Formats: sequence, structure tokens, C-alpha cells
Amino acid sequence: MALVNENFLKLPENYLFSDIAKKVNVFKATHPKAKIISLGIGDVTQPLPEAVIMALHKAVDEMGIQETFRGYGPEQGYRFLIDAILKNDYESRGIDLDPDEIFISDGAKSDIGNIGDILRHDNTIAVTDPVYPVYIDSNVMGVRGGDLLSDGHWSNIVYIPCTAENNFVPDIPVKPFDMLYLCYPNNPTGTVLNRKQLKQWVDYAIKNNVLILYDSAYEAYIQEEDIPHSIYEIKGARNVAIEFRSFSKTAGFTGLRCGYTVVPKSLKGFTLNGQETSLNRLWNRRQCTKFNGTAYIVQRAAEAVYSQEGKVQVKKTIDIYMENARILTNGLKSLGFQLFGGVNAPYVWLKTQSGMSSWKFFDLLLYEANIIVTPGVGFGPAGEGYVRLTAFGKKEDTLEAMERIRLWAV
Ligand code: PLP
Repeated sequence: MALVNENFLKLPENYLFSDIAKKVNVFKATHPKAKIISLGIGDVTQPLPEAVIMALHKAVDEMGIQETFRGYGPEQGYRFLIDAILKNDYESRGIDLDPDEIFISDGAKSDIGNIGDILRHDNTIAVTDPVYPVYIDSNVMGVRGGDLLSDGHWSNIVYIPCTAENNFVPDIPVKPFDMLYLCYPNNPTGTVLNRKQLKQWVDYAIKNNVLILYDSAYEAYIQEEDIPHSIYEIKGARNVAIEFRSFSKTAGFTGLRCGYTVVPKSLKGFTLNGQETSLNRLWNRRQCTKFNGTAYIVQRAAEAVYSQEGKVQVKKTIDIYMENARILTNGLKSLGFQLFGGVNAPYVWLKTQSGMSSWKFFDLLLYEANIIVTPGVGFGPAGEGYVRLTAFGKKEDTLEAMERIRLWAV
């Protein structure tokens, strides 16, 4: 008899976005003529950059010719892409990494979910709250979550609230923990940590033997000078942090799928009896056993992101989204809303009016302005009383949504 991993059964049946989809479907059925604008789900809308398309075509042609056909590639990724990453994402910021510290994958979500394979089941994890749900759900599947409590917290997870009260800068909690997820620029709040604020966490991790899992999927959206693009810009971070990166939001790869994870060789884990071991070695072993590499054509496409034309085209797309973010932040501010993020990230985190719940605000905007947002409470208990708006839509839709909110709010 095959027994199941019962931790899966602890996870609530409905994922946030399916709950939203259900509500939207009911609305559509009862209001068939309404023109809905979504400022909800965090997917890109602009097409892939021309340089990426050209690289894809070329790579596809290579696959059809005997001399240039490629079968299985290295599990860790092709050197041409790893070298482009090292040069453009790290050397350019004074960070010296070895090629075998980079692992190419089919996206950050897989790696974030899979990293738990190399870490003991009884580590205590800490997350900022609100949070990208994958950090919690993947740990619940892997035993580390404990049980879901009636207040929306998981019993074995340390929550670090990030709200307007602490200006979205997480305070170091009293309760000890072994692993910490940090995501900056943050999904869902769109907020960032400056160099000094991130350094406090790195120093804490060094002092307390904490492993930081640093998700910088939105790094390309950083506009301000003092915001680190990589955690390795902070001294000592290579001894305590794994970094996850993605081409999804950087270059529109949500449907193409490519990302990478940095596991420095100086990063040590420990056995129960205190013996040191290399996390890089364990992750490499894990990948070689369970992963057969990312498609060659996709890695060629990702390489093109770093070409001269690719860089210009990627910037153009990001500028489009950040212009949307400006339309939302300026418009909402002028209406007197309290909001956060939207400066170094494609997300705007809006406080609901007069303490209204996230779902109530969601319903009002859907029914009265035909706009979809994401209820903040879906990202964790500290998200209650907020909603997330995304800048990934088309400019004309963002402008129209803002106009509808203006009419609705007055
Ligand atoms: N990390 C964060 C914070 C995200 O918001 C997302 C996607 O929305 C991902 C990772 C997933 O990235 P990928 O598309 O590379 O799997």
C-alpha cells in the first residue's frame, strides 16, 4: 500500500489565484458585458525581446542539423550562459564567483521549491510576512511547516511582519531559526532593503549560523542607487546565502522558463553531529540526480538577454512596466491612498481605506470598478488590510484602471 506524504493534505485546498479566478468567474457570469481590467496576477504581458527571438530561431535551426544538434546538456547549464551571467550580473558589480557556483534551471520557482531536498526536515524556517507563498507551501510539503493554526500562521514557521508600522523593514525576531527566506525587491509589497538594512541580516546570519535563501527575481526593476542587486554585494554573504534569479520578470521568460541559482562553494551546512559539509556539493548532487538540464534553445535565448541589443530591448520593456508603476503610484497618491513599493519593483502595495479587509476591498473594486487586484491577506496574515496591484499590464489598461479608480474613489 502506498502511503502518501500527508503534509500535502495540510495545505489549504485553494491556492490564492484560484480563489480569485472563481470570484472573477462568478462576476463574469452575472455581468457578461463588463470590461474587466486585471491588476492582479504577476505575469508579464510584453512579448519577448527581438534578440531573444532571433537567438531562439538560430538555436532551433542548429537542432535540425547533424553537426550542431545537441542532446542532453550539462545538468548545471551550458558554459556560454554561465559565463554571460558571471560577467554581466556579478563581475560588473565587483562580485567574483566561479562557474561551478552557478546552476541554470527552468526557473526560480523550481529551485526555491527544490532547495529543501538538501536541508534537514527539522530546520526552523523564518519568512517575512506577507510572503511569496512558495516558500511556505514547499516547506509544509517537506515537513518543516508544522500545522496550520486558526490565525493563518503555520505552527513551526517564524513570521517576521512587514507592515507600514515598520516601514516594511523586517525586524530581527526574538525566536531563533535556521533558515530565512528574503525576497528583494519584494513580492508582494514591492519594497526593498537598502545596503545597510540587508547588511544587518547578513551579519545576523553570520553570527547565528543562519542560511539565507535570497530571492532576487525582480532585481532588474531596481532603479535607485543604494539598493543591492545581489546579496553577494554584502561582505560575508557568500558564507551564508544562496541566491535565486530568474529571467521571467527580467526578460519576459515566464512562458519560456529559465532561471539560475547561486550556491557558493564557501557556503557550509552542518550534519546533526556538527560536521561541516558543502551545500554546493549537495545541490550539484541533487541536480545531477533529479534534473536533466534546461533546453539548449532556451539557454541560447537567455544568453541573448546579455547581448548589446538584448540589454537595450530588456530595458525598454522594464521601462514600460515601471511607467505603469508610476501611473499607479502617482494616481493613487493623488487620491489620498497610502501605498508602498512601485519604485524599485513592478508591484504597488495599497492600504485599504478605513481598515477594510483585503477581500472586501477586492470585491468592491471588482463589482464597482471592474478591476481585479490581489488581496494582501492571501500572502500571509500581515497582508490583511492591503491589496497588491501589478504594473505588468498594458499602458492603456493601466491608465484606464487608474481613471476608473479615480471615479470610484470620489
Ligand atoms: N520568486 C518570486 C518572488 C516570484 O514572484 C516569482 C514569480 O512570480 C518567482 C520567484 C518564480 O519565478 P520563475 O518564473 O523563474 O519560476
